[in-house]
Amino acid sequence: MEERVIEHISKAKSTLFSFELLPPLKGQDFTSTANAIDLLMEFSPAFINITYHQEEVVYENLPNGFMKKKTVRKRPGTVGIAAAIKYRYGVNVVPHIICGGFTKEETENALIDLQFLGINDVLAVRGDPQVGMKKFIPEPEGNQHALELVDQINKLNKGIYLDEELLNTRSMNFCIGVAGYPEKHAESPNMDSDIHFLKKKIEAGAHYIVTQMFYDNRNYFDFVDCCRAEGITVPIIPGLKPITTRDQIVSIPKTFNVDIPAGLVKEMLKCKNNSEVRELGVEWAIRQSKELMEKGVPVLHFYTMGKSDNIQKIAKAVF
Ligand code: FAD
Repeated sequence: MEERVIEHISKAKSTLFSFELLPPLKGQDFTSTANAIDLLMEFSPAFINITYHQEEVVYENLPNGFMKKKTVRKRPGTVGIAAAIKYRYGVNVVPHIICGGFTKEETENALIDLQFLGINDVLAVRGDPQVGMKKFIPEPEGNQHALELVDQINKLNKGIYLDEELLNTRSMNFCIGVAGYPEKHAESPNMDSDIHFLKKKIEAGAHYIVTQMFYDNRNYFDFVDCCRAEGITVPIIPGLKPITTRDQIVSIPKTFNVDIPAGLVKEMLKCKNNSEVRELGVEWAIRQSKELMEKGVPVLHFYTMGKSDNIQKIAKAVF
C-alpha cells in the first residue's frame, strides 16, 4: 500500500522536506503551480499540501449606484489540482479539507472523491471566518470545529458513513493532519485551552500536527514541550513562511496572531525594497531551519504562497 505522511515520517532517517501551495486563481491554468513545483522537485518533497479556499462575499458596483452582493470562490480546484500534482510528479499530496462552506454530507462526498483518486492524506482545518465576518459560521448541517471534522473522517476510516444503514461499506484510509499554534490560536482565551482542544483532535484520530508559522524557534520548542507535557505524542511538524515584503511587519501579526521578533523587524526596516526583504526572509528561514534540523524535527514544511524561488534557496542551503 502507498505510504501516507505518517508512514513517510516513521520511516525517515533525517528531516523531510515538504511545502504548501495555493490552487491557482480562477481563470489561471496549471502553469504557475507547475513552475513553483519544478523549482523544488530536486529536494524530493515527501508531500505537497494544497490549501482549500471557501467562498467570499464581494460587492459589485451597479450603474444605478446600488451595490450587488455576490459570492465567489477565487481559488477553486483543490481536489483537481491535488490529483494533477500527484499523478504528474508521483508525489504524495495533502489536500486541505475545511469545515467552512461544507455540510457533513458534502464533506463525506469530497472524501469519497479523494479516495477514488487514490489520495489518502488530508489536513483537516476549520477555516477562517469568511472575509468581512467577525466570527466563523458553520453551514447549518456542517462541522463547527476541526475536531468534528476529524471525528467524521475517522469514522469513515472505520467504514461508518452518515447513513448508518448503508450495508457492506468500505473503510477509508485517511492519514489526518491538523493545525497547531505555537503562539496560540487568535480565538483561544489561553494556551492551555488551545492545547486542550488540540489534544482532543488527536484523540479523535488525527495522526500529526502542522504548526502555524513562527519566526522565533523558541516558540515552537516551548509549544512542543507543552504538547508533550499534556500527553500529545504525535509528530509536530514546524511550518515556516519566509517573509517577503515590508508590509508583513503589520499584516502577519494582524492576520495570523504571530509575533515578529524585534531583531527581524530591525533588519526588515533597514531593507531598501522588497527584494532585499525577500533575501532577508531567506537568510532568516535558513537560520531557523538549521536549528530546527539540529533538534531533529521530523519535517520542515514551507508555506510558498505560490512562488517558490525563495524556498528553493532555503532548501539548497539546508538539505
Ligand atoms: P479548530 O481546531 O476548530 O480551532 C479553532 C478555535 O476553536 C481554537 O481557538 C480552538 O482552541 C477552539 N476550539 C477547538 N475545538 C473546540 C471545541 N470543541 N469547543 C470550543 N472551542 C474549540 N484555512 C483555510 O481556510 N484553508 C486552508 O487550507 C487552511 N490551511 C491551514 C493550514 C495550517 C497548517 C494552518 C495552521 C492553518 C490553516 N488554515 C486554513 C487556517 C485555519 O483554518 C484557521 O487558523 C482557523 O481559524 C482555525 O482552524 P483550526 O483547524 O485550527 O480550528
